[in-house]
Amino acid sequence: MIDLTKANHHLWKEIMEEDAGDIRRCFNCGTCVSGCPAAEAETPLMIRRLVRMVLLGLEEKLLEDGTPWMCVTCTACEEMCPMGVKPFEVGLAIRRWQTRKDETYIPLSTTEVFQTGHTQPVEKVGELRRSLGLPEIPPTIAKFTELLKKFQAMLRETEIVKNNDYMFKE
Ligand code: SF4
Ligand code: SF4
Repeated sequence: MIDLTKANHHLWKEIMEEDAGDIRRCFNCGTCVSGCPAAEAETPLMIRRLVRMVLLGLEEKLLEDGTPWMCVTCTACEEMCPMGVKPFEVGLAIRRWQTRKDETYIPLSTTEVFQTGHTQPVEKVGELRRSLGLPEIPPTIAKFTELLKKFQAMLRETEIVKNNDYMFKE
């Protein structure tokens, strides 16, 4: 059960410091999720739920939530929202807020990029791709193991991987 007496009722102002529409207009219709490709990800992004969490002031839960980083920045949600809420901008604002709150924060998608070359592991949708007449694995780095190894070697030179190597396993 969520205890709203402990909620930060100013969270929405803190997060939405830049122009990202007025999230108070969100009436939780879910249209933004219906066309969101990241809603089908292994760790699904439910942008409607994130908007709700901001509005309810669920600070601790939002800080732990890695799903804003699953967004593939297609902006479909912004075109679909009937209330002009700009859910995509909300997701970006949450990311910035998370990293401001915790400088050591390493998003889930960072480790996935390291392991697979993609923010969303493409091999997980092999069956869907096959049903659409597409090759199971797309002709990206996911298909070429040697290139992925070179990519990982390059990332190992970055501070984020060097300082947190326990999180970046091949
Ligand atoms: S911009 Fe992000 S949140 Fe919006 S529909 Fe695209 S993937 Fe989903
Ligand atoms: S489409 Fe707009 S109004 Fe509907 S849930 Fe998403 S953000 Fe809220």
